[in-house]
Amino acid sequence: MGDLSLFLEDHHEMMRDMVRDFAEAEIAPVASEYDESEDFPWDNGAKMAELGLFGIPFDERWGGAGMDLLASVVAVEELARVDASHSIMVGAHTSLASTPIDRWGTDEQKRRFLTPLASGQVLGGFGLTEPGSGSDSASMRTTAEKKGDRWVLNGQKTWITHGGVGEVFMVGAVTSPEKGNRGITAFLMTKATCDLEDAARVGFGHSDELEAMTGFTVGKKLRKLGWNASDTRELIFEDVEVPEENVLGEIDRGFPIFLDTLDGGRIGIAAHALGIAQGAFDQTIRYTGEREQFDKKIHDFQGVRFMLAEAQTRIHAARVMTYHAARLRMEGKPHKQEAAMAKYFASEAAMDVTTMAVQLHGGYGYSREYPVERMMRDAKITEIGEGTTEILKIVIAREILKAYGETA
Ligand SMILES: Cc1cc2nc3c(=O)[nH]c(=O)nc-3n(C[C@H](O)[C@H](O)[C@H](O)COP(=O)(O)OP(=O)(O)OC[C@H]3O[C@@H](n4cnc5c(N)ncnc54)[C@H](O)[C@@H]3O)c2cc1C
Repeated sequence: MGDLSLFLEDHHEMMRDMVRDFAEAEIAPVASEYDESEDFPWDNGAKMAELGLFGIPFDERWGGAGMDLLASVVAVEELARVDASHSIMVGAHTSLASTPIDRWGTDEQKRRFLTPLASGQVLGGFGLTEPGSGSDSASMRTTAEKKGDRWVLNGQKTWITHGGVGEVFMVGAVTSPEKGNRGITAFLMTKATCDLEDAARVGFGHSDELEAMTGFTVGKKLRKLGWNASDTRELIFEDVEVPEENVLGEIDRGFPIFLDTLDGGRIGIAAHALGIAQGAFDQTIRYTGEREQFDKKIHDFQGVRFMLAEAQTRIHAARVMTYHAARLRMEGKPHKQEAAMAKYFASEAAMDVTTMAVQLHGGYGYSREYPVERMMRDAKITEIGEGTTEILKIVIAREILKAYGETA
């Protein structure tokens, strides 16, 4: 992996060792079964909660581990190295659901919502995307109307990670239609997990103290190319009454909260991509050192060595970009462009490296006997979620032009 001491401190390396041991022992043996069955990994989720993986960067006062963003990035990377359906559990929960409450919530909101999330009692999610608004998320149609001391939400979100299994969600709704993206508000919404029996069995995933809001329901599990064990669903709001104390930040000022959350989330997706690429690379080093053709190990062919050298260079660059963006965010420095560049680069590296891994496993790479085909399927979403590659290029170009004093 090379010397990363410019970025990582001892506690980050300890986190890496701890999560790597856990992932090898508990996730690697069952990852392909979960991929096939598409079941949510409740048992491993409970073990991850026990290890404190759902609250890594949050203050101990709110049930967190009191570490930092980089520790969480390293944990996601190490989980993704073995299985991305497990890493997205920590990633989506931490960067999309809990972080906005930590950064924008009142102490009372942190007590009520961040504490059960960070302590690993329940899972959380982030509701921005709708059937008609993905990249153009400001054109959302979900509405919130004020009635007395409550807001009444109507609408639908789609592609929501943890939609079914989660209990706390940050959801965007239009509160002032005439104001465009300056008329969107962020709401904290709660419901019971759809797998109450599993949650009770493993002792993780449900809190009786959170209100199950009437009219807040979910659709069927969406079937996907990869991330098969991750729970992705529609959220449906039919006259859901949300108390005004559940508004996160200010009325009509929710869109900047979503954008800030996405800046952090993109660093998280870069960490997933990096981990997937590293996992596929590790498998490939092992395989090309064992498999022989033409009386040679295949890693002794120069053509294969060139592929390995290119892959390692891309992984290293992705790692440096991801850790750098994480450090900037941790230190409160501007990081929009760096986060977008890290996700753009790391997600393309993940696609390229996993495709190379399948290629270098030959026919076996295409079979379900080896994990590289799953890794290749899991890599693709990193080029789509939390800003497609094309949207990231728009963000990067805008930041570049601003830096040059041009109209962005
Ligand atoms: C497995 C999974 C999990 C997800 N989890 C969540 C979640 O937890 N919460 C959530 O809110 N969302 C989630 N999403 C949604 C995800 O963020 C969106 O799918 C993504 O932002 C793209 O939106 P879209 O699918 O509507 O595609 P569209 O916006 O319709 O884009 C379609 C294509 O058009 C391109 N395009 C669009 N606009 C432009 C432009 N201006 N210039 C150039 N090209 C453009 C895009 O790059 C893309 O290639 C998830 C999606 C998936 C698949």
